[in-house]
Amino acid sequence: MRALMQDKPLLISSLIDFAAQYHSDSEIVSRTVEGPIHRYTYVEAQARSKRLANALQRLGVELGDRVATLAWNGYRHLEIYYGVSGMGAVLHTINPRLFPDQIAYIANHAEDKYIFTDLTFVPLLEKVAPSLTTVKGYVIMTDEAHMHETTLPNALCYETLLAAESDDYDWPQFDEMTASSLCYTSGTTGNPKGVLYAHRSTVLHSFAVCMQDVLGLSSRDTVLPVVPMFHANAWGLAYAAPMCGAKLVMPGAAMDGESIYQLVDEEKVTMSAGVPTVWLMLLAHMQEHGKKLPHMDRTVIGGSAAPQSMIETFERDYDVTVIHAWGMTEMSPLGTTGVMKSKFAELPFDEQLEYKVKQGRVVYGVELKIIDDDGNDLPHDGVAFGHLMVRGPWITNGYFKGEGGEVLDADGWFDTGDVATLDGEGYMQITDRSKDVIKSGGEWISSIDLENLAVGHPDVAEAAVIGIAHPKWDERPLLVIVRNPGSDVTKDAILQYMEGKIAKWWMPDDVTFVDEIPHTATGKIQKISLREQFAGYKLPTADAAE
Ligand code: AMP
Repeated sequence: MRALMQDKPLLISSLIDFAAQYHSDSEIVSRTVEGPIHRYTYVEAQARSKRLANALQRLGVELGDRVATLAWNGYRHLEIYYGVSGMGAVLHTINPRLFPDQIAYIANHAEDKYIFTDLTFVPLLEKVAPSLTTVKGYVIMTDEAHMHETTLPNALCYETLLAAESDDYDWPQFDEMTASSLCYTSGTTGNPKGVLYAHRSTVLHSFAVCMQDVLGLSSRDTVLPVVPMFHANAWGLAYAAPMCGAKLVMPGAAMDGESIYQLVDEEKVTMSAGVPTVWLMLLAHMQEHGKKLPHMDRTVIGGSAAPQSMIETFERDYDVTVIHAWGMTEMSPLGTTGVMKSKFAELPFDEQLEYKVKQGRVVYGVELKIIDDDGNDLPHDGVAFGHLMVRGPWITNGYFKGEGGEVLDADGWFDTGDVATLDGEGYMQITDRSKDVIKSGGEWISSIDLENLAVGHPDVAEAAVIGIAHPKWDERPLLVIVRNPGSDVTKDAILQYMEGKIAKWWMPDDVTFVDEIPHTATGKIQKISLREQFAGYKLPTADAAE
């Protein structure tokens, strides 16, 4: 029997319409690339998105066409989110931290028709533009006063484009499975691959973000997404904030500790989200200047494992609850978040930490399981670890244009490439990326666990662990460390600090110091480059074994 319920498609345009109608005085505050702070409300954001939709129509953009952005988090980027997807075109958010030839590759692969760019990225695009085969024109996201000479062909000024249009526009209604946006994964091997989101998956994911047990976003929040809008749609916050009418604070290009602190403090930010490296900068700034976070209630840390020392600092020194979160571009991105169950929240803080360092527990809508190398299901006992598989309505079923071939198994599970444990409460803990796990004597050592432990040492700024070939054990861990400025901490001191905190056979065979650890375009440690850098490295334990 079919239900008697209205079949109203879940469309992204409905999010901004709702915010404009019912949260008309909620603000969007942006630090602009031009300098000043810009401030307006959802009403103006909606009106300008509609102007943009009219402008895109006039430029010949049609349903399904790809329109790209190279932009920081800011109000114009938000208008493009809604204008492009709202009219039925596909918003392609390009990560400007990619190499120019990767940008050219993905813009050509996506067949972008127009590219919208912040002033910051005009020089980068000027270099890339001659290789772009489908782009008809470029829109520079500024006003006439800030436009300058450019070699970009068909360069238009964003504000001039909008000024010529009316905000009278009815969002078209279409199938909710229509593609809404496209985001390429940074791809640790081979070319980046495109994840193509739907209106439906995006709206469902936004509901999840707002759930109390997920990120609990509400109209009472002022949210600062430090995570970029070019990285998995700012973890869905650019959609979830209008869904609940939260005030949005956009940091623009300034991610340094002082700039982020200023926005958090002046705008009374209650909730924020970003990768651990960003929080390291904020914490360092606050520690140096004796600052506090009186308004902030919680912060979301994800993208890489949140070190225990960072969780402790936020919670103990600043009274900010850490929500450790895990997900991936292919998952819109949320899969697990670490909001405590009440029975754990009642535990003493030291015991809670055991759960807080885990990547959180499963979000309704996402199914998780772990399997061994032969595909057998492993128990959810918090001990057994295996390949983490996911399934759900906001998880990809294949990359754009079929790149990478079939990505689901016969039962529709997607292999995340992560190795993890799961427990009966739904808590998941990442052991490693399957490519990074260190295989020692037939057993696995988690590089993440060793890194997290090492960064807890007060003289360590950053740590990375890679497996080095070993004649007896196959691989053994090498710990690579960036010291804090002014520190001359030694290998022995580091190893002494780690001793007793992990199994003996997990102890690194060697520690080496570098000035810098390479990062990917999304801020993760680039293990591939590290492995290249240390190719042929001889561990001090190798000789004895030969
Ligand atoms: P991306 O698609 O760039 O967001 O990368 C997704 C990958 O980042 C995941 O598959 C994990 O390997 C890693 N990742 C994301 N969040 C976490 C986390 N909280 N802890 C450890 N790894 C994470």
